[in-house]
Amino acid sequence: MKYTLPRGTRDILPEEMGFWHNIESVSRTLFHLYNYHEIRTPIFESTGLFEGSIGNETDIVEKEMYTFLDKGGRSLTLRPEGTAPLVRAYLQNNMHKKQRNSKLYYCGPMFRYERPQAGRYRQFHQVGVENIGTPEPFADAEVISLGVHLFDELGLTDLSVTINSVGCPVCRPVIEERIKQFIGTNLHFLCGDCQRRFDTKPLRILDCKSNQCKTYFSGLPDIRDSHCQECRDHFNSVLEYLDSLGIMFHINPRLVRGLDYYTRTTFEIISDQLGAQNALCGGGRYDYLVEKMGGPHTPAVGFAFGLERAVMILKSLLDHNHYDDVISIFIAPIGFAQRTKCFYILDELRRAGIKCEMSYVTEELKPQLRQANRLGAEYTLIYGYDEAERHIMIIKKMANGEQHEIELEKLIPYLRAELKA
Ligand code: ATP
Ligand code: MG
Repeated sequence: MKYTLPRGTRDILPEEMGFWHNIESVSRTLFHLYNYHEIRTPIFESTGLFEGSIGNETDIVEKEMYTFLDKGGRSLTLRPEGTAPLVRAYLQNNMHKKQRNSKLYYCGPMFRYERPQAGRYRQFHQVGVENIGTPEPFADAEVISLGVHLFDELGLTDLSVTINSVGCPVCRPVIEERIKQFIGTNLHFLCGDCQRRFDTKPLRILDCKSNQCKTYFSGLPDIRDSHCQECRDHFNSVLEYLDSLGIMFHINPRLVRGLDYYTRTTFEIISDQLGAQNALCGGGRYDYLVEKMGGPHTPAVGFAFGLERAVMILKSLLDHNHYDDVISIFIAPIGFAQRTKCFYILDELRRAGIKCEMSYVTEELKPQLRQANRLGAEYTLIYGYDEAERHIMIIKKMANGEQHEIELEKLIPYLRAELKA
């Protein structure tokens, strides 16, 4: 073979596609039910958009972006996530001037230069929602409950919700000071990234994936003790609303997530079935991102989940695919002269919404019946010289071999009724 896939990418083959279509359509239905509207943004954006929003001292911006110069010398980046582009589009299209609250969702490929492993790719797909313009904790609870509802609807079991609050510009400095004090003299045991981030973004240290670093975080005081009153009240309300919906969660005081823009609520929905990459869905509140991008003060909250990981779980639960890959009708011309008429009928049936195929290579009956069986056809229509003379077709039910004649004019209504039954 001359060419192979770039490392960290994969082909999504037809046999897996049923899972994808199912997730996409259940998501869409539910998002519309919760009054979210789809938005599609370009796959690449100017590099500055991500540097300025996700933050310079994050793994994504420091190590994982696919950045290139186009022929005009502009620095562009394949989007590593969906929130920053969505907020850019929200402002650029003046959505903030039209109404207080915009509820938007997106679906599409994202790109991160990461070390490929199970459930971690360099091109992967996310579905996400963003509730922009609602500061009330109801919005946080709605977004989390939408995620839970969605995964319930998809039949994903054994999921758990973990939640935390990372504070706001008022209490963040206090939280960061506490972290720095706690790490203190152990700093030189931490990895290079953590050492660098210690002075500028100490909260980021808690997101470090290195096991060595993690051992130094045990015993860390709960960052919630440093929250300001507003953050405390907000978090308690979110938890109260989740409780009122019967949503189970556990609080993980170290859940800070890998992007700079989060304030207050952060959460993940994780699955034991995913192994090391156990996060299916991540999200949180980002009350200052719109402002940081030059818009008015506009609090927001959202989540994104990974389609590859959702498909992995669904596959492990089901041994069959919902993908409808069988045909209803196979048309078998017998004799060379009958092919053109059969080709015409094939087209008529398709225009009538009936899924069908015919053989283009042989006019012998036997191999055509074999092909019809292979394709899972419910019926085969046989059309030879005799049938052409009498304007009929022979219709053969593949399950039991029963067959009878049918006039050509009655074919479509007959098949419609039969296939519905
Ligand atoms: P992780 O901790 O697994 O690196 P993350 O915090 O980087 O996840 P987010 O940026 O919040 O992830 O993205 C939300 C979801 O997108 C993740 O929970 C995961 O399902 C999916 N995801 C993120 N990165 C990848 C990747 N490289 N390959 C496949 N899916 C991914
Ligand atoms: Mg990551």
